[in-house]
Amino acid sequence: MIINGKELADKIITQSKSEAIKLKKYGIYPKFAVIIVGDEDPASKTYVSNKRKACEKAEINSEEYPLPSTVSQEKIIEIIERLNADKTVSGILVQLPLPPHLNSKIICERISPLKDVDAFTSVNVGKLIQGTATLLPCTPAGIIEIFKHENINLEGKHCVVLGRSDIVGKPTAALLLQQNATVTVCHSKTKNITQHCKKADVLISAVGKRNFVNSEMVKKGAVIIDVGINKDEKGKLCGDVDFKSVEPLCSYITPVPGGVGPLTVAMLIKNTVTASRIQNERIIKE
Ligand code: NAP
Repeated sequence: MIINGKELADKIITQSKSEAIKLKKYGIYPKFAVIIVGDEDPASKTYVSNKRKACEKAEINSEEYPLPSTVSQEKIIEIIERLNADKTVSGILVQLPLPPHLNSKIICERISPLKDVDAFTSVNVGKLIQGTATLLPCTPAGIIEIFKHENINLEGKHCVVLGRSDIVGKPTAALLLQQNATVTVCHSKTKNITQHCKKADVLISAVGKRNFVNSEMVKKGAVIIDVGINKDEKGKLCGDVDFKSVEPLCSYITPVPGGVGPLTVAMLIKNTVTASRIQNERIIKE
């Protein structure tokens, strides 16, 4: 079965819209603010435009802060501090990647954990590991939504995650553990990757290499989640998985495009509404 990430993402955005309508009755208007540095990266432009469209769909406010690629770290932090203090702003995101003279870890860390809708701050990463997070990292949380929607029970399943980045691999492994899966994380220094993959009931690839996962690596009936975003020889978008050869073997598979990508954006909208609700809990209770 080919999973329709777009359809599920639309459902999550519609739910977020209903949540936002409830908040509006209390005079609370969720607002998402994105800081964009430079305008050279075409992928970033697409992501920002997708986020803007999703905000419009959910009828939540969004604000963009475009900055020149020469901007200083201090200037970005100054804007973040201003947005942290602004009660009308519910969620803040710094669009990555940043130019090399800027340290994304230092910059993102300055976002208030209550407004950290990407869940990149150390406070939110810590809560994720402890299982107490309210704002979950968008791509890993989107992957969990797929399992929930398709009624795929992860308890006792062997999940293999390819990639150990702070954005995808590590937080995905943490969320899978919380679902009582047995988790193996592979990376560029892992030996015998094919052997690990072949044992996977669920295989999640976040490597960023076209055709990295082929039919030799997949157990019959496995669930395949393809996070990768790459270009093929014709410049068309593709994932990490050799879709044509793997699809006949597996029980579920996410396509690229139209799989995990739309869910990442949908979870960002969900986080913005959740953040707004948490920030205004006192008003809602009164
Ligand atoms: P990343 O930071 O570059 O991490 C890639 C990971 O893959 C690293 O852990 C790396 O291992 C591992 N790796 C690289 N070559 C490998 C090899 N030959 N064998 C095994 N492991 C290998 O990338 P990322 O930010 O996690 O993103 C991964 C992919 O997902 C990219 O294509 C990105 O565009 C895409 N992505 C998609 C979404 C979405 O919404 N669909 C969201 C985020 C990212 P080491 O740690 O050892 O270097």
